[in-house]
Amino acid sequence: MRIQVLGAAGEVTGSCYLVETSKARVLVEFGLHQGGAHTEAKNRRMPPIDPGRLDAVVLTHAHLDHSGRLPLLPRHGFDAPIFATGATIELCDILLRDSAHIQESSANRANKYRGKRGRPPAQALYTASDVDRVMPMFQRVPFDTLVEVAPGVRVKWVDAGHILGAASVLFELEDNGARKTVVFSGDIGPRGAPLLRDPVTFDSADVVFLESTYGDRDHRSIDDSIAELGEIINKARTPKGKVLIPSFAVGRTQQLIYFIGGMRREGIVEDPKVYIDSPMATSATDLYRRHRELFDDECWELIDSGELCLSFPGLRFTKSAQDSMSLNPMGDGVVIISAAGMCTGGRILHHLRHGLGRPETHVIFVGYQGDGTLGRRLVDGSRKVRVMGDDIRVNANIHTIGGFSAHAGQTELVEWLGAMRDSGPRVYLIHGEDRQRKALSEKIDEVLMLKAKAPVWGEVVEV
Ligand SMILES: [Zn+2]
Repeated sequence: MRIQVLGAAGEVTGSCYLVETSKARVLVEFGLHQGGAHTEAKNRRMPPIDPGRLDAVVLTHAHLDHSGRLPLLPRHGFDAPIFATGATIELCDILLRDSAHIQESSANRANKYRGKRGRPPAQALYTASDVDRVMPMFQRVPFDTLVEVAPGVRVKWVDAGHILGAASVLFELEDNGARKTVVFSGDIGPRGAPLLRDPVTFDSADVVFLESTYGDRDHRSIDDSIAELGEIINKARTPKGKVLIPSFAVGRTQQLIYFIGGMRREGIVEDPKVYIDSPMATSATDLYRRHRELFDDECWELIDSGELCLSFPGLRFTKSAQDSMSLNPMGDGVVIISAAGMCTGGRILHHLRHGLGRPETHVIFVGYQGDGTLGRRLVDGSRKVRVMGDDIRVNANIHTIGGFSAHAGQTELVEWLGAMRDSGPRVYLIHGEDRQRKALSEKIDEVLMLKAKAPVWGEVVEV
């Protein structure tokens, strides 16, 4: 039995692992590489997995850095089930279609340039028809139940508290009389975050692949972050005041709705007017509302008391681009939550173009801003930025609230792993940059007295 690390080794995107026994070959995740100069080439290069010989794919959650290359598989001969939880499959349907749309538009843009120079047209990495081909291959699995995904390979999905449907997975492998247990953490959410249940731990494992996105630090407390959000919304309550929140459509937007609804109930923010201005965020919010079975106890207490946890008077969803434009003249502290979260596209751009020059505008960043993005330039304090072809002087107030992460911080990662400590697992740190992996490995050694390794791309772990 062996596992080969084929992605997210020393980086946070492109997750991919191949689990092999003498009888079965199962791929875990097939995520997109995102950001950075060589992403395009990395996404096009098929790793040595021979898709036609795979017995199954196991997916932890829908984020594109875990699922975003799945539409490439059928073209390469893949014809097997992709196992995932119901909510993950429904989210994949939204996210993979959006991803195909982005791939097609970026190829079209490139081709205008190439055409002018007489160069052959570029192909999109994949298109909507590839997504149509891959979606029927998904098979829904229940949480907390062992499912045989291939001969001698049984897998259990448990809550990871990260986004809707997200799971950590436990593999029970059986080969030539030997039995081994391997855990893939997937992305682990912070404890006590709203809406979703907290991450579930395992008691024992022979091998653990642990994410390390924030392996070097703990986040600011969520309560402080909510309080800061309330203060800014109240401060913006002036005739021309406006709050713009660039936000990831899945997960973060629903948390914000929950927080603002909560502050409204408690009278911290009076009658907020909030617009969700992103078609994808609207679909994702619908999906969250439909999957109440995944909500945590706190959310259920609200529902049982007759309140709504993802709705409140004053919350609206815009539909057309015209509806979106009609928000421009609004003031009185209106809150506009829009994508993309790093301001790399989407409707947030026209809001920024309209609002950044005005001192009454408050822009709140609530998530990670990648290098080279407009969001990063604003967070870093640029006084002049280019938005949709216009140079704009930044007179708006720029705020960064750091406590809303969908990932566990260092202490929580160590505690999550600690539940398996007595079984003495071999630990491999994945899904983190080297600085984060080093810090986490030192902490694991100090607290749990376990040695955690940082595998490189292509490394084979014998189980
Ligand atoms: Zn994720």
